[in-house]
Amino acid sequence: MEEKIVTRFAPSPTGFLHLGSYRTAIFSYLYAKKNNGIFVLRIEDTDKERSKKEYEENIIESLKWLGLDYDKFYRQSENVERHKFYLEKMIKDGNAYISKEEAKDGSGIIKEIIRFKNPNIDVTFNDDIKGEVTMNTKDLGDFVLAKNLNEPLFHLAVVIDDFEEGVTHVIRGEDHVSNTPRQILIQKAIGAPTPHYAHLPLVLGSDKLKLSKRRGALAITEYKKMGFLPEAILNGVAFIGWNPGTEQEIFSHDELIQSFDLHKVQKSPAVFNQEKLEWFNKEHLKNISLEEAKERIFIYLPDELKKEKLIPLIMERISKFGDVKDLVDRGELDFFYKAPIYDKEKLIFKNISAEKILQNLKLAHEVLNEINESDFTRENIKNVLMKIADTLESRGEILHPVRYSLSGLDKSPDPFVIAEILGKNETLSRLQKAI
Ligand code: GLU
Repeated sequence: MEEKIVTRFAPSPTGFLHLGSYRTAIFSYLYAKKNNGIFVLRIEDTDKERSKKEYEENIIESLKWLGLDYDKFYRQSENVERHKFYLEKMIKDGNAYISKEEAKDGSGIIKEIIRFKNPNIDVTFNDDIKGEVTMNTKDLGDFVLAKNLNEPLFHLAVVIDDFEEGVTHVIRGEDHVSNTPRQILIQKAIGAPTPHYAHLPLVLGSDKLKLSKRRGALAITEYKKMGFLPEAILNGVAFIGWNPGTEQEIFSHDELIQSFDLHKVQKSPAVFNQEKLEWFNKEHLKNISLEEAKERIFIYLPDELKKEKLIPLIMERISKFGDVKDLVDRGELDFFYKAPIYDKEKLIFKNISAEKILQNLKLAHEVLNEINESDFTRENIKNVLMKIADTLESRGEILHPVRYSLSGLDKSPDPFVIAEILGKNETLSRLQKAI
């Protein structure tokens, strides 16, 4: 029978996790799903002082948002009985022993801790990313397995939990490579098989230093708040240090599962780039329905701007929904409901004379006035204006003053779109004012 693939994501809820950690979750999830396997979420909460409910909830919310559904969920602390069982077994088998030691705090109190009886052998394992790794375990000494029978420490708990869950592939950060020999020694001592390992290279920030919360790395839920799309974050984060080796960069959730290949994860550290993430988001925005866009954009708009016609125009100018707030705050959409106040010199196009510009504005007013109000669409507007524009040396001689008189901005959408949205009356009145 073919082996059932089981992977797990095993975060410690001792802080908000950033993109680097979620990349580990994404790779573990994709690998399991690609192979019809099982993906387990294990909250490693054995450090009682530092583990917080709030962080656990944030991890759960983030995975849900990203669409990383797990098949099993449990907290490491729920498994203490199993940890105890194996500790007792290891002591009985002579693989561990209770050691009476003076507490390190200088109090003179003697404590009983449980140490591993290290056989001091060379440990070799085959890492799916790093290749063969061999480490001598002699220097590790008889490392500590548990504070007592009811308080196992990290290495023991990880090994027992992975064993009991039948984890076949441990995909985790490179910072755990040096822990692996210890964990393999414990596996051997309890007769557990050694899973496959894949240690993922670090994720670096744009400063080429390890991405960390201290240097501005954000929790995934912050991206949610900024109005990023979960499918774009999933795609963008999966592409940190991995790609399927084709030209295609935009992938849906299911396409990522189909294309994922652990062996294509790059061996060198990967660099996270915020602009690239924005680009992924902008690309994914193209797949959003008008209805959804409207719903998400209207949240940020004052009532005067809640017009369906504005949606495509706004979509072109944002890379994430939160950008709508900036457009509004910077007043870049104000001209859609307020006649702009501007510097009349700026109606002039290049070195064209004021007389010529005036003449063109009058012409524009005349031809636009001839369009029926019900036919005042961007196509019709474009038709009549372009007819004039094409007779001029440069189209800007008419298109610029028309656009500027409608928006009063150095940069704005083309005059046809603006005129359609403003409607015939308002368009003519702004042209009149410019004239
Ligand atoms: N709890 C560990 C961490 O958050 C992960 C342990 C593992 O993946 O083996 O770094």
